[in-house]
Amino acid sequence: AEIETLRSTHIAEYPDFPTPGVLFRDITPLLRDANALRRIIRYWTTLLPEGIEYIVGTEARGFVLGAPLAYELGAGFIPVRKAGKLPGRPAGLKYELEYGSAEIQIPENSLPAGARTLVLDDLLATGGTAAATVELTRRFDVELLGASFLIELEGLGGRDLLPDVPLTTVWSIP
Ligand code: IMP
Repeated sequence: AEIETLRSTHIAEYPDFPTPGVLFRDITPLLRDANALRRIIRYWTTLLPEGIEYIVGTEARGFVLGAPLAYELGAGFIPVRKAGKLPGRPAGLKYELEYGSAEIQIPENSLPAGARTLVLDDLLATGGTAAATVELTRRFDVELLGASFLIELEGLGGRDLLPDVPLTTVWSIP
């Protein structure tokens, strides 16, 4: 119940951002509140599967939330970035968006085969970002333990793009 209250007090809602008809959820009020941030990170760790060795987090809010979770769990953190930001020879994946396409990349020599891995982001909407991140992660023959999100927008069908991935969410919004 306490955790549920934090959603209404610490997630801001902006109608018509970034485009008309979209209700944007902003986690800044949660991030800036020291006690709330700590409570959410600690609570979130209790929902996650056992034995995570690596958290793969998506740019940019997946970094902010994924790193403290990894620290709490004693896991490593691996950033998945938009194309063009990583040095060396990162592995990349192009995927389709509603308008156009995007490419994400993962650092070279980052995920060992068999590693028990969790994919993580702040928010699951249509699922396109998470599905691409899962597909890229799986190329490394990891043991994918699941995907986890602070917020799931249930009405957008994101889950349907991740049918074989165990999902955990702190807040599911109908
Ligand atoms: P999807 O690919 O449609 O599931 O969108 C998820 C991605 O877009 C995530 O990386 C989110 O950070 C971002 N995103 C989509 N909607 C929101 C929102 O309302 N608030 C914050 N981030 C969002």
